[in-house]
Amino acid sequence: MPEGPEIHRAANKIRKALEGKVIHDIEITVPRYLERTSDFIGKKVLKVEARGKAMLIHFDSFVMYSHNQLYGRWTVNRKDTAPKKWNRSLRIALTTDKHTCRLWSATDILLMEPWELTGHPYLEKLGPDVVISETTVEQLITHMSQKKFQRRRLKTLLLDQGFFAGVGNYLRSEILFTSSLHPDRTVASLSDEEKITLAQQALFLSRQSYDVPGITVDLELYDQLRDLGQSRGRARHWVFTRDELPCHRCAALILHTRPGGRRLDYCPQCQPMI
Ligand SMILES: [Zn+2]
Repeated sequence: MPEGPEIHRAANKIRKALEGKVIHDIEITVPRYLERTSDFIGKKVLKVEARGKAMLIHFDSFVMYSHNQLYGRWTVNRKDTAPKKWNRSLRIALTTDKHTCRLWSATDILLMEPWELTGHPYLEKLGPDVVISETTVEQLITHMSQKKFQRRRLKTLLLDQGFFAGVGNYLRSEILFTSSLHPDRTVASLSDEEKITLAQQALFLSRQSYDVPGITVDLELYDQLRDLGQSRGRARHWVFTRDELPCHRCAALILHTRPGGRRLDYCPQCQPMI
């Protein structure tokens, strides 16, 4: 599933293609919106933004909300380029004078009045977004000090978009590793210093992974590993998908767990339970 950095990068591409542009053509296959094509034609896109893992495309009188869930993907092509042939089904294609932005396989698509955004169940619950540069360490610390988070374990909280929006599976493992925190620790068990480290690492890794697509490991180490012949997939993370391999910091073997059916990898030595 795409995580915050990937969603924000997709939003940048769509923004370049759509923002300030007029929609010339549209294709919709979402059954309940088949009659809505005329709402788009001739209308200008005012703004494109990512919030958590949702994408919002703002028009004058309505907003198109989409959440990719597991299989949804956006593609952006020149208008005359044929769409990719793959086993995803087209939901919406928005065409300007130059580009076509297509949303594939997403099931969660809504056309909303702008005022409805405030009460939307997903958007309303979102915590601070770790990818956007406005979010600060102080904001994350204030947010995590809320009572409702105190007894929950970091391994479940870090996938809750109400905690740190934009963190998904690989970022969860990586943030816990660089913060030296065991996945079973609760927020209440963290010292002030550990809270600061967790907030700093959540921001640092999410933004690095946005700037240098999908790489969470130290960039110098990444180059060294690539020079040694490791694949991009093998070299790009500290612990995620590196189970049974030696930790880059202490050489202990990385452990693999699947809480709630989602992969979580960690170093038993660098991330002790205490
Ligand atoms: Zn280690």
